[in-house]
Amino acid sequence: MKHKKTTVNLLSMKQRPDESIRAFVSRFNKESLGIKDLDEATAHMTMSNGLIDMDLIKDLAQKPTKNMAKLLERCNEFVNMAEVLQARKMTESKLEKKRSVTDDRKDEKRTRTDSRAKRSDRARSPEYTPLNTSRKEILMQIQDDGYIRRPRPMQAGSFRNPNKYCLFHKDTDHNTEDCYQLKREIEELIKVGHLKQYINIKGGREDRGS
Ligand SMILES: [Zn+2]
Repeated sequence: MKHKKTTVNLLSMKQRPDESIRAFVSRFNKESLGIKDLDEATAHMTMSNGLIDMDLIKDLAQKPTKNMAKLLERCNEFVNMAEVLQARKMTESKLEKKRSVTDDRKDEKRTRTDSRAKRSDRARSPEYTPLNTSRKEILMQIQDDGYIRRPRPMQAGSFRNPNKYCLFHKDTDHNTEDCYQLKREIEELIKVGHLKQYINIKGGREDRGS
């Protein structure tokens, strides 16, 4: 580092036209981590002003956030909601196609589609930050802190394994440790600067001088 970074460095930060909200938030967080004595109010204002997604700006204008943590939470919610809507759209168009198929062997087909969806889920986010604690444990420790969002409920009607229970969904079907939504939620929170204490730093030793 050439010289110490200060809050002033943050002031010029703006989401780029080709940059996703998530990428901007993560870039902003990275930059802010390097700043000692970060003026939180300024950081909060700068990040609010740096966002360029009109829907998110409108959303924030209607219900302004009071601090950085709240702003990160809202961005996270917004991005996730957009993804959920996108995923739902895709599922719906898939369902449309399936409906035209005759009803016999329906269940078999659904099971196969489900496992295919799971596989593509995995393919979409193969790189999770290594953790030093089980996800179940993390969930239990942070679930009352308010910043972890509840998962969307599981699809009604699909086959559920009654022998497995997910603490995140509070429902049967899979174990907490295998829950993709929980994996993604934890990953999101890490990306926006939460849960640092659960990140497994390489070699397991924590000796970054600060
Ligand atoms: Zn789950």
